[in-house]
Amino acid sequence: MFKALVLDQIDGKTKAEVRDLEVSDLPNEPLLVDVDYSSINYKDGLAITGTGRIVSQFPMVPGIDLAGTVTESHSDEFSVGDTIIMTGWSVGERFWGGLSEKARLKPEWCVPLPPGMTSHDAMVIGTAGLTAMLCVMALEDAGVTPESGEVVVSGAAGGVGSVALRLLAALGYEAVAITGRAEMESYLIAMGASRVISRDSMQESAKPLEKQRWAGGIDTVGDTILARMLAETHYGGAIAACGLAGGYKLPTTVMPFILRNVRLQGVDSVMCPKETRTVAWQRLQQLLSSEDLVEMSQTISLEEVPEYAEKIVNGQVRGRTLVKLTAQ
Ligand code: NDP
Repeated sequence: MFKALVLDQIDGKTKAEVRDLEVSDLPNEPLLVDVDYSSINYKDGLAITGTGRIVSQFPMVPGIDLAGTVTESHSDEFSVGDTIIMTGWSVGERFWGGLSEKARLKPEWCVPLPPGMTSHDAMVIGTAGLTAMLCVMALEDAGVTPESGEVVVSGAAGGVGSVALRLLAALGYEAVAITGRAEMESYLIAMGASRVISRDSMQESAKPLEKQRWAGGIDTVGDTILARMLAETHYGGAIAACGLAGGYKLPTTVMPFILRNVRLQGVDSVMCPKETRTVAWQRLQQLLSSEDLVEMSQTISLEEVPEYAEKIVNGQVRGRTLVKLTAQ
């Protein structure tokens, strides 16, 4: 028997409960994994609280990411004893996920844990950190360099935002943090922000073009903040948009694109090809120290997950929330 968080739908409401399961309850996939750690991402919060239509079938074991050790393999790609990271691929939405002491996975969903990285550090990074790295890579791809000017990050005290600040600072960028929580200022500076600005100041609706302030940006919230970031981006700059914590709308005009050559690059980590993920994980391993990761994370138990799911949906979580499962 092992423990897992199980979601059920009762009278149209999602109910989350820690249950004892048997290995035979798991879906029939080629790899059986002892899960060391999982984490709580914004999407997990939506799934567990039933706030968003994330889960396509019940019962569901949520958890969109995990790191652990293969204990049974019917695949040539991984052997017993290999340590792996799994993020995305609709796991925790359509397929049973990582908030469980054991999981069965398809090998194509997994990447090897990079040498020198622990499963703890991999899940502090998790889906949020992978997405932050993909956003940074999108800015690099668009030609935004540390010399280009300031890069603005929204939802900065959240998971994606915290890792994005750390990565930008490690690469020599001047990163400006947008936050709705003034009390997070010292944390954001510790994460690498060169300065912090208020969410309110960025939430005012923007004219089609505003004064040029940003060489680039990483947006995790959408809506009026993304619209303002676009209107304030330098000629030739780029914004990587990955999230919707503030809303899915985008009240903007074509002006930044056609008059300032601004690029809006969408970023998705869920279906991101394995080659790109592997590169991203290697870069994460090189750019983030264990001290950075301790500073931005807290560790909770499986039983505490429903409480933290509520908190993340309400914007009350700082940085990354790690869930300890079978790690020693
Ligand atoms: P977190 O909850 O950890 O962070 C989100 C942050 O957004 C909050 O900490 C808060 O930052 C800010 N925020 C919250 N509510 C609002 C609001 N109403 N208006 C403006 N800002 C708000 O979530 P994650 O970092 O895990 O995820 C961030 C977003 O990125 C989510 O929408 C998520 O779904 C998306 N995402 C997308 C991925 C992809 O593959 N495209 C992968 C991972 C995440 P502060 O307090 O500093 O203002």
